[in-house]
Amino acid sequence: MSAPTAAARAFRGSHTADRSPEELREIVSHAGAELELAPAEDIIEWAAATFGEKFCVTSSMGDAVLAHLAAKVAPGLDVVFLDTGYHFAETIGTRDAVEATMDVNLVTIAPDITVAEQDAIHGKDLWKTDPDACCAIRKVKPLADSLAGYDAWATGLRRAETHNRVIAPVIGWDAKKGKVKVSPIARWSDEDVERYISENGVLVNPLVYDGYPSIGCWPCTARVAPGEDPRSGRWAGQNKTECGIHT
Ligand code: SF4
Repeated sequence: MSAPTAAARAFRGSHTADRSPEELREIVSHAGAELELAPAEDIIEWAAATFGEKFCVTSSMGDAVLAHLAAKVAPGLDVVFLDTGYHFAETIGTRDAVEATMDVNLVTIAPDITVAEQDAIHGKDLWKTDPDACCAIRKVKPLADSLAGYDAWATGLRRAETHNRVIAPVIGWDAKKGKVKVSPIARWSDEDVERYISENGVLVNPLVYDGYPSIGCWPCTARVAPGEDPRSGRWAGQNKTECGIHT
């Protein structure tokens, strides 16, 4: 493992003061332009140094690229994984492998109610009858709740993934959550991701190599034929392309 950088050392010892939304937005207005073309490592390093323990990385465990970048420049950083109760076994296995092998603090969060409780309250398979409500209960609310203690969060959003994500800024203001939203690999192409994985031996969810280039909950993720839009397997056949976390 590489030696901790200056920013990582600052992160380990940092206890950032509480910042108001105005102060956070001020940081975004300066850093957004400065870091737009910076390498992903520098972006995470900056966020770790700026926000200290109030910065986390989120991962859906399609791969461990973001966790690997975090472990490299800010060892011990919180990596938040949302366990919806509907994940493929391979996704949980990838989460467990990240926790066992990487120098990050894996934080698993869950919705307020189990799948069984949801079935009892809203009827069986809410994902079939009202997927927006299901995502609101199992994804949007628990993530918003878990981010309450942080000022900034990093996501693996990439502009190459869908049209909705074209404008994802590297450093942006998430008005809904009142947080700084950091997208260190926003500018990465599919080839950039593949190259980083291959050069660094990064963990990848085995489903990626089995026809699932974009992985979410099993009821809402279908296999994609070679050459098709990688995200076309998400909520396939429904008028839905995002879970609501990024909108
Ligand atoms: S992706 Fe599907 S199963 Fe998962 S929370 Fe959304 S609707 Fe529910």
